[in-house]
Amino acid sequence: MIALWIQDKFLGIDWHAWKVVGWIGNVAFFSRFFIQWYASEKRKQVVVPQAFWWLSLLGSVCLLMYALFYKKDSVFIFAYAFTWIPYIRNLVLQRRSEKRCPSCTEIHSVRAKFCSHCGVSLTEPLRTE
Ligand SMILES: [Zn+2]
Repeated sequence: MIALWIQDKFLGIDWHAWKVVGWIGNVAFFSRFFIQWYASEKRKQVVVPQAFWWLSLLGSVCLLMYALFYKKDSVFIFAYAFTWIPYIRNLVLQRRSEKRCPSCTEIHSVRAKFCSHCGVSLTEPLRTE
C-alpha cells in the first residue's frame, strides 16, 4: 500500500483544525479555476459563474483565518485582508445583472428577451396551459 500515513501524518502533513481550514481555502481557490474554465468552454466565451466568486470568497476567508489565527504572519495576513471585498461586490453586481428563466431556471442577462436554453420569453409572465 502507498504510504499515505507515515508516523501519524497523512500525506506528510501534521493535521489539526487550522490545517483543515487552510487546506479548505487552498482547495476552494484552486477549484475555482476549473469551474470558470468549464463554464467558459461550455458557452465558448469567457464566463465567470457565480460559483467562481463564492469559491474565491470561501478561499480568501479560510486563508485569512488561517493567517490571522494560526500563522500570525503580517505578509500572509495582508495578502488576504482585503480580497473578500471585490468578491462580495462581484456577487452583488452579478446578482443584479441576472434573471432566471421561469421555465428551465437557466440564468440570463437582465437584457435577454428570450431564454437561449428553452426559448421562453423572458419579458412576459410564464403561461401554463
Ligand atoms: Zn429557459
